[in-house]
Amino acid sequence: MSERPKMPDVLVVDDDSTMRTLARAALEQIGCRISDAADGESALRMCREWQPDLILLDVELPGIDGFKVCSTLRRNPDFVDVPIVMLTGREDDRSIQSAYDSGATDFIAKPVNWALLGHRVRYVMRGSQVSRGLRESEQKNRAFVQAIPDALFVVNADGEIVSRHLGSEGSRLMDDRIDDRTDRRIDHRLDNRLDNRIDNRIDNRIADKQSIFDGIPKSLANLWQRQIAIAIRTGLTQHSEHHSPKGKEEHYFETRMVPYTKQRVLIIVRDVSEQKRADAKIRRLAFFDSLTGLPNRQSFMVEVSRAIRRAKAHDTEFAVLYIDLDNFKRINDSLGHSTGDALLKTIAQRLEAGIRRNDLVAHSGRDESRLNVARLGGDEFTVLLHDLQSSEEAEAVAGRLVATIGEPMSYNRQQFVITPSIGIATYPSDGQDIDTLVKNADMAMHGAKTSGRNRVRNFSGTMSIRSLERLDLEDSLRRAIKSGDLELHYQPKLELETRRVNGVEALVRWTHSARGPVSPAKFIPIAEEAGLIAELGEWVLGQACDQLVEWKRGPLDHVRIAVNLSATQLCDRHMARRFIDTLASRGLENRRLELELTESTLMRDVEDTIRTMSLLKEAGFTIAIDDFGTGYSSLSYLRKLPIDALKIDRSFVSEIASTSDDGTICSAIIALAHSLSMKVVAEGVETAEQLQHLKFLDCDEIQGFYFAKPMPADEMTVFLRRNPMAVTEPDPVAESTG
Ligand code: C2E
Ligand code: MG
Ligand code: MG
Repeated sequence: MSERPKMPDVLVVDDDSTMRTLARAALEQIGCRISDAADGESALRMCREWQPDLILLDVELPGIDGFKVCSTLRRNPDFVDVPIVMLTGREDDRSIQSAYDSGATDFIAKPVNWALLGHRVRYVMRGSQVSRGLRESEQKNRAFVQAIPDALFVVNADGEIVSRHLGSEGSRLMDDRIDDRTDRRIDHRLDNRLDNRIDNRIDNRIADKQSIFDGIPKSLANLWQRQIAIAIRTGLTQHSEHHSPKGKEEHYFETRMVPYTKQRVLIIVRDVSEQKRADAKIRRLAFFDSLTGLPNRQSFMVEVSRAIRRAKAHDTEFAVLYIDLDNFKRINDSLGHSTGDALLKTIAQRLEAGIRRNDLVAHSGRDESRLNVARLGGDEFTVLLHDLQSSEEAEAVAGRLVATIGEPMSYNRQQFVITPSIGIATYPSDGQDIDTLVKNADMAMHGAKTSGRNRVRNFSGTMSIRSLERLDLEDSLRRAIKSGDLELHYQPKLELETRRVNGVEALVRWTHSARGPVSPAKFIPIAEEAGLIAELGEWVLGQACDQLVEWKRGPLDHVRIAVNLSATQLCDRHMARRFIDTLASRGLENRRLELELTESTLMRDVEDTIRTMSLLKEAGFTIAIDDFGTGYSSLSYLRKLPIDALKIDRSFVSEIASTSDDGTICSAIIALAHSLSMKVVAEGVETAEQLQHLKFLDCDEIQGFYFAKPMPADEMTVFLRRNPMAVTEPDPVAESTG
């Protein structure tokens, strides 16, 4: 910034008035404004009040002499830069030296050549302006450097550090623990700190730039621009604020070299650790699954394409294992997402540990690098097996994974068993591009599901047929629900004490045009997965209500119908209202309808479930828990929920007579239900022996083939009219359709 030239204000200090007058005349001629003083004290006072641009100062003054005045002024920061020209009477070395020692800018020996004084003053003024400019620019530069967090090293042609600036904590860390006496060379200093584990590739393009560095050692040229990583044992440093748990922290530095004279190079070392960490984080987010930390779908796809390239080049085979957890949606729905997430994490760990476990590696003779695990999303995982030796090898690994994943795990003091279905597709036989391979592994996985879950399937021709079969089922079911091509069968429940049939359970039946009857155990899960269950449920309710209307006219006014509800229906906030409306529109009392909910349904979302169930209960519906004993319900849930009855699962009833364990479970369930004022229904009673046991255990109702099989509505009507009161000792019933 240039300032407008201003004529200087000059203070003339001399006890001789003639001298003052002559000096004034000479200087006014060149445009200076003059003030004067006759002694040192008044000179100092005037300086305090009025800052001159230059002082012409006689050495010999009454009182304080000129040297003293000069040194006093120099101690004042305002006068550090003001040029002071001393008038010495004696042109001897000592007084000239004293003048400079006291801080004078220049001296003029008496007698003064008045004609030259003006030139001399102008020259001194110019000199002082230049040095003030320099000083200011140096201050500015120093401030700039102070503000830079980088480390700056000035290095000579031998690579020795001449001076340095250590800006930030990071750059100090880098320079820490270096002995200046033994290691003055910058390249040693940096190279000694490289940790070979970390990427420290040197930019080879450096060589081309060699010509820039005339006279600079080749080793230094490596510092031209490169990234170095330094692992610092924080536990040992003075600056140990960044303690990492392992006592070691990685710092990354970027070096840059700027030659600035022929013999000097400036090396800038920047701590880029933060930026590196941020980059790594972004990479993690883009390529890794945040829940499990496993590579995500994106990474998996990259890995598959890499595997294809590798297998092509080396003429090898590899396998894609597509893993889907069985019924995981139900866990998520019934126990909440936080439980689901925790279990997924455990499974991810098991997968990783499972494929790394020594026995597996040993069994398959492979090292870790040949295996990649990824999470595609939800409950779907994949494993890549490179360099496959045989197709059995992939199956063996998958089989082991089935076993590992399926081991019981506990979370929040509950035990879970989650099983996987795994599909295998092999490159190149099952697909030669990413899409085909992954699609076929997925199809094989679905094959494993349809053939019973918790198993491994290889992709093969039959596999795709099976999968098409499922698609076809889904499609036909959709159409069947739309056109009402379903039917309800009814199975009676016998009240043991009164020997009356007061209720029947509605069970949906579907006859596929080509395949014949399809079991609800097969198509209900399909309806659930395909999002058809709500529609199906509505149809069942409407149909059951129509039947109730018919029996009411019958008159079979006492009979209640139980319908099965799926979890999705219970989660629908408006479901209770719709049920109430459906019955009201047909003039039916709500107590005529019983709702059967499976245990897992209840725990989907406890708050929502309790609200919906309370609404249903208040409206007068009867609520029963179906398949009791197979889910995870805890006693506290049972107490909180408005439940009227428990239906003991068939699996406990079937063994009741043979194994004591199941007998104990049945009697415990019955005792539990009674203590909570609930009724107990035993499902799947097939023999007189089972019936006897249940009677003995004080069970309230039974349902099962021993008494009656599910039957179409008209047969059921006949059955009910036949006066079930007469059933004294039930006979096995002849098989009915269904
Ligand atoms: P669930 O509600 O536990 O129904 C009882 C199942 O046991 C019925 O099978 C019935 O036919 C069968 N069963 C009854 N007595 C015996 C017996 O003595 N021995 C044997 N081995 N089995 C017996 P089904 O009709 O195949 O239904 C299977 C499951 O499908 C039902 O189990 C229920 O969970 C579901 N389901 C059936 N209809 C519907 C429906 O309309 N909606 C929903 N959401 N689910 C339904
Ligand atoms: Mg049921
Ligand atoms: Mg049941």
